[in-house]
Amino acid sequence: MMIRQAAFAGNKNNPMLKGGLHCHTTRSDGHGTPEEVIRLHKENGYDFLALTDHRFYNYTNFAPETGITIVPGMEYDGGGFPTVADNDGLLTQAFDSTGFRCFHTVCIGPEKENGNAYEQDQRFDSARVKSQEEYQPYLDKLHADGQMTIYCHPEWSSTPARYFSKLKGNFAMEIWNSGCAIEDDMDTDAAYWDELLGQGVRINGVATDDGHAMYHHCKGWVRVNAKDNTVSSILAALNEGKFYSSCGPEIYDFYFEDGKFVVECSDAQKIRLHADKHPTRIARSTTGGGADGNLTRAEFNVGNGYSYARVTVIDKEGRHAWTNPIYLK
Ligand SMILES: [Zn+2]
Ligand SMILES: [Zn+2]
Repeated sequence: MMIRQAAFAGNKNNPMLKGGLHCHTTRSDGHGTPEEVIRLHKENGYDFLALTDHRFYNYTNFAPETGITIVPGMEYDGGGFPTVADNDGLLTQAFDSTGFRCFHTVCIGPEKENGNAYEQDQRFDSARVKSQEEYQPYLDKLHADGQMTIYCHPEWSSTPARYFSKLKGNFAMEIWNSGCAIEDDMDTDAAYWDELLGQGVRINGVATDDGHAMYHHCKGWVRVNAKDNTVSSILAALNEGKFYSSCGPEIYDFYFEDGKFVVECSDAQKIRLHADKHPTRIARSTTGGGADGNLTRAEFNVGNGYSYARVTVIDKEGRHAWTNPIYLK
């Protein structure tokens, strides 16, 4: 029996839509105006974009001449508030003993007429919580109000997987965040993903920019196998895991058949299979490290007994692309 990851079902001849799910503008603490940020994405081949300014909801296409589809959204957050002054008068957050830091959640939602409870420019307060159990009711409310949610930048939030792995209803979590990678050398979010997948949590991975400075934008995106470039089709495809993430390489197929995982992609130097079994498997280009990438297909003959597997494709510039998982159990 063949199991094909949903991104690659029935789309061989259709280019997937390129989209950005997390960015900031001068509507919150981003450097570019909404018009500038949208135009930059259009110049970089994006088909859709969500302007996810902090706790400030947006539906508007501020640069309508671009024809880009704006996916409604914002970034919501919760943390260990309130801040308190310690003995030295320094402001610190009132962390609990588990070392909990904060939760950031990108919300994307349908058009107003399709069940989105929020208004243009609606503002939200941060959730005042100290644990994932306390944050869950806020997530539940976002979902009830029509939002799909992404768990953001776990490494930047200093939040180990065990402190967010019980959150329910996130369709995805960030596995790459360009802003965190560029500014803070934090590029290990995908490892947190495997922690969740290994515990049996079914969750997709998304690459985003979380662009604040202009040079953060257009570095990490999703490729979505959507029926057409409308908000409802994009959200439906995202919800079904019909997408992959990339900082450069393209992925054309990923499936499991007869004990083998097979991946096809643009020129790569390495293709790595991640699963809940040791050892991690990797295919390398025949020309080896440092030479031109020339790997466009890999087969991993693993037999049976895997719960899930996913693939990372790495090109000669070191840029990654990530499939969503195939689940076998
Ligand atoms: Zn954030
Ligand atoms: Zn952000």
